[in-house]
Amino acid sequence: MSLAFWLRISAFTWALALGAPCLRASAANTISFNGQTYVPVASWAHTHDLMCHWVKRGDLFEAANGTARLIFNVDSHYADINGVQVALSFPVADQKGAACVARFDLDKTIQPLLFPPRSADPQRLQTICLDPGHGGRDTGNRVRWHNEKTYTLWLALDLRDELRKAGFKVVLTRTRDEYVDLASRAALANSRGADLFVSLHFNATVNGRDEVQGPETYCITPVGASSTNARGKGADRGPAPGNRHQTQSLLLAYQVEKSLVDSLHLDDRGVRRARFEVLRDTRMPAILVEAGYMTNPEESQKIYTLAYRRSLARAIAAGIMAYKNLTSPAISTTTPPARKISKVRQKR
Ligand SMILES: [Zn+2]
Repeated sequence: MSLAFWLRISAFTWALALGAPCLRASAANTISFNGQTYVPVASWAHTHDLMCHWVKRGDLFEAANGTARLIFNVDSHYADINGVQVALSFPVADQKGAACVARFDLDKTIQPLLFPPRSADPQRLQTICLDPGHGGRDTGNRVRWHNEKTYTLWLALDLRDELRKAGFKVVLTRTRDEYVDLASRAALANSRGADLFVSLHFNATVNGRDEVQGPETYCITPVGASSTNARGKGADRGPAPGNRHQTQSLLLAYQVEKSLVDSLHLDDRGVRRARFEVLRDTRMPAILVEAGYMTNPEESQKIYTLAYRRSLARAIAAGIMAYKNLTSPAISTTTPPARKISKVRQKR
């Protein structure tokens, strides 16, 4: 039996074992739905060697193999991608018994996360701009006597130390309690030639729901889509400078959110999309981290302690390192720099 034939039989056997939705849906065409082109998840998964099945028919659909696991929730704007909630631009749909996802979301979100593009320049990630949210007359969220601006600055200073230890050059948009407008924050990152931009905030609910907790990490909304929670508004916004790096920003947001959730065992509020000014106007991969809720009684008490903020700083730094390792060229870790080789030759 040839290897190719065996693989085909093997895939067919697996598909049968999993209820065979992959093969049935792989023949399906794209579907036009709510003004978007939708693709049956099973059809797309089949081309990437992912096995798929309904976990709960009409509700939860899974596509997985040995290295990836995606869970789609019908009518939801989120997908679980390898254990992290990621906002989609269009909701998952059930079309005649097939779970379908917008082609737009496959192209802009799902495929870049599963198959991240590597940078052509291994030396590029050197300088990181940290942006402690608010400051001066802008207190940010206020919960009793606690001002968000104080904790964003203290977190930024801890994160600066972590990143310096890891060998990065770090610049900050403010180092004390002063007002800095949003345009100046992006402009500073641009003028200092930062390679990444990380804005730091703490969250609060507007409706007094104090059970909400956990980090959420924002990256720029793709052109043609609405921001998370924008209820369909703003989809017509044109490209901003930040959109040039939207894939890298998404990868960075994903790695930071994953690191926070995994290492500190926090509720995952997801990777989200927004057109915040600091994400729009920065000319490098940029994210905004809402590192927890000041309106949650337990989480806020942790946020107000130095030890917890340091653990947040370590987790964010680890996410940045994971992003660096993911996007830097694979050969850079195995091929010694040419300069070192010549030094060895000189010694001889
Ligand atoms: Zn804030």
